[in-house]
Amino acid sequence: MAKEQTLSIVKPDAVGNNNIGSIISYLEKSGLQVVAMKMLHLSKEQAGEFYAIHKERPFYGDLVKFMTSGPVLVMALEGENAVAQNRKVMGATNPEQAEVGTIRRDFAKTLDENAVHGSDSLDNAKIEINFFFKPNEICARTR
Ligand code: ADP
Ligand code: MG
Repeated sequence: MAKEQTLSIVKPDAVGNNNIGSIISYLEKSGLQVVAMKMLHLSKEQAGEFYAIHKERPFYGDLVKFMTSGPVLVMALEGENAVAQNRKVMGATNPEQAEVGTIRRDFAKTLDENAVHGSDSLDNAKIEINFFFKPNEICARTR
C-alpha cells in the first residue's frame, strides 16, 4: 500500500443540492484526507481543457456545459491508495449502477450529472492536481 494523492471535484449538481458537506463526509469516513480545496466557477476554456481526453465523445459539449453551469469544489485528497479508494467511494459513473453507500448512488440522479469527479490513475491524478493547485497550496498533514 502506498500513500497517494488524487483529485476530487464536487460537481455543479451536488454543489447546487447543498451536498458538499455530506460528500466530504463520505470521503473522510473512507479514510481519505483533504490536503487542498477551493471553490471555483469553471470557465468554458478550463472545463474544456480539463476534459480534453473526452473531446471526441458525443457528450463532450454537454459535459462542458454542465461543468460550467454552477460552481464546483475541487479538492486534493490524500491516503493509502487514494486514487482507487476515491473511485470506490464515488461508485460507478452511472448512478443506477453504483453500489449502495457510494456517493453517486446516494447523491446523483443521472449519468451526466453524477455529483463527483475522481482521477482515474495516479498519472492523471498528478496532472489534474497540477491543473488546479500550485505546489504550495497542498497542505501536508502534520497531525
Ligand atoms: P468518470 O467520471 O466515472 O471517470 P468518464 O471519465 O467516463 O467517467 O466520463 C466523464 C464524465 O462525463 C462522467 O462523470 C459524466 O459526467 C459524463 N459522461 C460519461 N459518459 C456519459 C454519457 N454516455 N452521456 C453523458 N455524459 C456522460
Ligand atoms: Mg473519468
